[in-house]
Amino acid sequence: MKKRLVVQGRLNDAQLAELSGLFEVDVLPKSAKLDAPESRALLAKAHGIVGSGLPITAQILDAAPNLAAIATISVGYDSIPVDELTKRGIMLCNTPDVLTETTADTGFTLIMATARRVVELAQWVKDGQWQAGVGPEQFGSDVHGKTLGMVGFGRIGQAVARRGALGFGMKVLYAKASAKPELDRELGAQHRELSELLAESDFVCVTVPLTAETEHLIGAQEFALMKPSGIFINIARGKVVDENALIQALENGVIKAAGLDVFEQEPLPASSPLTTMANVVALPHIGSATHETRDAMAQRAVDNIRLALQGERPISLVNEETWR
Ligand code: NAP
Repeated sequence: MKKRLVVQGRLNDAQLAELSGLFEVDVLPKSAKLDAPESRALLAKAHGIVGSGLPITAQILDAAPNLAAIATISVGYDSIPVDELTKRGIMLCNTPDVLTETTADTGFTLIMATARRVVELAQWVKDGQWQAGVGPEQFGSDVHGKTLGMVGFGRIGQAVARRGALGFGMKVLYAKASAKPELDRELGAQHRELSELLAESDFVCVTVPLTAETEHLIGAQEFALMKPSGIFINIARGKVVDENALIQALENGVIKAAGLDVFEQEPLPASSPLTTMANVVALPHIGSATHETRDAMAQRAVDNIRLALQGERPISLVNEETWR
């Protein structure tokens, strides 16, 4: 008998056909809640789940007694209780590597857009306000040659730093990561305590995962340590930052600008002050959102679930303990 899969996420036709050739596949609409009665009926028979941003709870796991593996179409898995899965012997697979460069591109886009005020000034042109040559009121800040402080220095953090160091001659500092002597050699990157990095950097870019230790890692105290000319970039997860403290810091001139791909509440409510601040570039969580990368992430999830349910080791396994 074929094993059963619940799919909630964007797979292309070839990927769906690949899975349907091997498993009984039930596709849930994007809007369906996993704890809704119709979903629970499918989960009751499921051996695997594939999806993105899956809000998994112990109750959902209780409803899926045959579940052997979950393949999330993301590298982050902060919405999934890993310990609970491990306790039940359920494999969790994610999609690292294939999205690293694209997410770093988004990070650097935010660095450039905030420093050179790209969104604000493009709108100024479209609004017909370009009546004479620009003056100091429209000037931005240099990026090249400045100091880039990476908070978290894993795959994505290093990829952002490479762009900065090799493309823009930036000095790279990093904190909240183990020391990486090979990157000191390659990029001249220097390890710092977080407080030192905040004080020294012109751009502070956050790339740590959201965990119990990193929730609200950056708040009022941390913004106060930044230069008033400092620019803050978050491409990690919204909850790593105390968003109210960020809003205050921007409103009070504690820092100069922010480039944000992620927010404490997503979608960002239209009522958030961040939507109206000229010194904020806010993106709708598009870190990895290109056709090529989203396809590659979906394919990695397909490969992971196929291998897991066929008894082979998935390519990207988060909870190694579940691999016998
Ligand atoms: P990674 O390779 O695992 O790097 C994580 C970095 O954070 C490492 O340097 C790690 O330190 C450090 N770190 C600090 N505190 C940590 C803690 N409590 N637990 C784990 N690591 C901690 O991950 P990545 O592939 O670069 O991805 C980073 C995060 O970016 C993801 O978790 C995700 O939330 C986010 N992301 C966002 C988007 C988007 O659309 N905006 C896209 C992709 C990913 P060590 O160097 O010592 O290990």
